[in-house]
Parts: sequence; structure tokens; C-alpha cells
Amino acid sequence: MFGFFKKFFSRGNAADPIPFTHDFLLVGQGLAGTLLALELEKRGKRVLIVDDGWKSAASMVAAGLLNPVTGIRLVKTHGAEDLLPAAHRIYADLGKRYGREFFHFVPFYRYYGSEHEREIKAQRLQKEDYGDWLGDDVPAGTLCNGGLGDRLGGFFVKRCGRLDLPDLLKTTAEDFRARGLLREAVFDEKDLTVTGQSVRWHDVTARGIIYCNGYKVRESRYFSQLRWQPAKGEYIELELAGTGKFQAQILKGPVVAIPLGGERWRVGSNYDREVLDNRPTAAVAEYLQRMAQSLFAFPPEAKLLAQHAGVRPAIAGGIPAVGPHQAFPRVFLFNGFGSKGTTWIPLYAERFAAKLCEEKA
Ligand SMILES: Cc1cc2nc3c(=O)[nH]c(=O)nc-3n(C[C@H](O)[C@H](O)[C@H](O)COP(=O)(O)OP(=O)(O)OC[C@H]3O[C@@H](n4cnc5c(N)ncnc54)[C@H](O)[C@@H]3O)c2cc1C
Repeated sequence: MFGFFKKFFSRGNAADPIPFTHDFLLVGQGLAGTLLALELEKRGKRVLIVDDGWKSAASMVAAGLLNPVTGIRLVKTHGAEDLLPAAHRIYADLGKRYGREFFHFVPFYRYYGSEHEREIKAQRLQKEDYGDWLGDDVPAGTLCNGGLGDRLGGFFVKRCGRLDLPDLLKTTAEDFRARGLLREAVFDEKDLTVTGQSVRWHDVTARGIIYCNGYKVRESRYFSQLRWQPAKGEYIELELAGTGKFQAQILKGPVVAIPLGGERWRVGSNYDREVLDNRPTAAVAEYLQRMAQSLFAFPPEAKLLAQHAGVRPAIAGGIPAVGPHQAFPRVFLFNGFGSKGTTWIPLYAERFAAKLCEEKA
């Protein structure tokens, strides 16, 4: 997992007299910073997180879907066999720790978009190990007493669910704040001094700094040269009249509709690689609403309740960017989780924390 950066993990000097206040300073309390901080703490490390109040947090607007098979070609996420059980375990442990459920298993019904897609699924099931992930075909118009607009039928993707990210982030922030582990401030690299043995930021002297700052990492002098490919995404919340009885599953057609109770749905999302900000637009809201209505056999009357946008932190190649900087071994990256942070981050946080704790410094 960390092969790309492996050779740059360096050893410090145990007799070093530097008065460290912390082991690691983490920039960003999105899902990445949160889970990594908790994993480091679990291993006895002193951490401090600096976050600007989720000003640009993708985690705060993410749908939180855990879905192992995605895209038109029904591709299984690389490493899904390890990533999903780890995510389920780690989210369940967090639930126990904080006395609430953050993760919920929810059936995920995917409509066929074309006959070609049906063929792809049949091929996957014949040749590859997809049986654990893809359910049997559901004939058109049979689910929900024919109330869905699944003209070609569909199938369930197994082991899917949804993480309530805002609840998880707010709950952990409260805990971090109460224990003095969260500094609510804007991190400015001008205030950072990096040496071979330590990093200094205001009154903090740490053994390392870890950039978990989402797509804003592109502004860092240490990591701006990497091939970042951030993508803006928007979602809306809608009330769709007469759809309350269809809320037993997530619906995935041209858009994904997540049941929120009653007749409310959360509908998303799009990809925009040109305009990178967190401002929702009327055009995307109109598109999402129209597509959401098409998920049903009858076009339900819609009421727009809310609109949100954020930027996914992604990098070319689609594999997260994790490890130390090539020239500055005290500067680390834990980023690039793209549109699958909910799936990737738990296991990566666990393994990266273990790797960081192997260091003798
Ligand atoms: C519309 C949308 C829908 C999505 N849906 C899903 C989904 O269903 N499933 C899924 O797995 N993923 C989804 N994603 C992707 C998911 O959001 C990301 O993979 C994940 O949240 C990334 O987490 P992160 O902690 O790396 O980054 P972020 O959540 O962006 O966290 C970075 C944090 O750093 C802070 N920060 C940045 N700069 C500074 C600074 N200078 N000083 C202090 N703090 C700073 C930010 O404010 C933020 O709090 C979606 C994304 C979007 C936009």
C-alpha cells in the first residue's frame, strides 16, 4: 500500500534533545484526519489537529455511501475484500466508543442503464469473483409494486451502506476539543518550519506533520507538484410526493437517491473538474431533480429542500496518496481519497498509523 513512499521513511535520533509537544500535527479534520488521529492515539501517539471549521470539507457534504462496485463497467473497488470488512469493523467500533450508530447497512438497488450493462454484469459473474458483491437480476417493474422507473430492471449490490459523516465529524470534534486535541484555526504554511528531525508551527513542536487537508493540499509547497485531479460534486435534498413507501433502499439510476425518512431524499451527484468551489448551482439542482423524478414510474411532485457542494480530493491514477515527502521525511501526506473516502480511509488510516509508529524517532 505504501510502496511508492516506502524508502523515504527515515529513522531519527532517539537521543535527540528536541522538546516535542506532540508526535504528529495533522492538518484537517475531515474523515481522513479524524480516523488517522484516532488510530495514532490508539498507538500511544500525541496528536494535534488543526482545522478551519470544515470550510472546504468534502466529508461534510459527502453522501457517505459505501459501495464496492461502481461505474458503468461495474468495477469492484481494488482491495474491496479487505477494505469493506475493515470499514464495517472500524465504524462499528466508533459507534460503540461514542454510543451511537454512524454506519447503517442499507440495500442498494441499481437500475440497468442499458442492455450492455446487463451483459457486463453477466460476464463479471461468469469470469470473476463478483458473486459476493452482485445480487440476482430483478425484473423490470417488480420491485416496490411497480412504483420504480427501472425500465430494464436492475440488481442489488451487496454489503452496501451509508456513513453519517457530519454526525461522525461533529461527535469526534467535540471529543477532540474537550481533550485539547483540536485547534480551530486556519493553517498557514508560512508559519511552518521543517527540519530533518522536527516540524514547528506556532507553539507546536512535533515529529511530523500530516496533510489531511483534502483538495486544498494542492496549495502546499510540498505537494502542489503531484497530479491532483479534484472534482466538484453537488447534491440536493428533495421531498418527492408519494415516494415514502419506496424508502427501504437506496436507488441508483442516472443519479443516486438516498432515503432520509418520510418522503425526503438526498440526491446526487455530478462531477465538475473545471469550477472548484463549494457553491451549489441552479443548473445542477435542476438536473438532479429531473433525474430523481425519473427514478419512479410516475414523476413525483418535487420540493427542493437544500443544496450543497464540495470538492473531492482526487489524484491521477485513482489510488490514494499516502506516505512521506521524498525530500522532507517529516512531512507526510494522507490524502487523495477521491469519491471513495468512506471505503478507503478506515483501513488506510489503520495501516498508515501502524507504519508511522514503526519509526523510532
Ligand atoms: C458531493 C460529494 C459526494 C460524495 N459522496 C461520497 C460517497 O458517497 N462516498 C464516499 O466514499 N465518498 C464520497 N465523496 C468523497 C468524500 O467526500 C471524500 O473522499 C472524503 O470526504 C475526503 O476526506 P478528507 O478528510 O480527505 O478531506 P476533507 O473532508 O475535504 O477534509 C479536509 C479538511 O481540511 C480542512 N482544511 C483545508 N485546508 C485547511 C487549512 N489551511 N487550515 C485548516 N484546515 C484546513 C478542511 O476544511 C476540511 O475540514 C463525496 C464528495 C462530494 C463532494
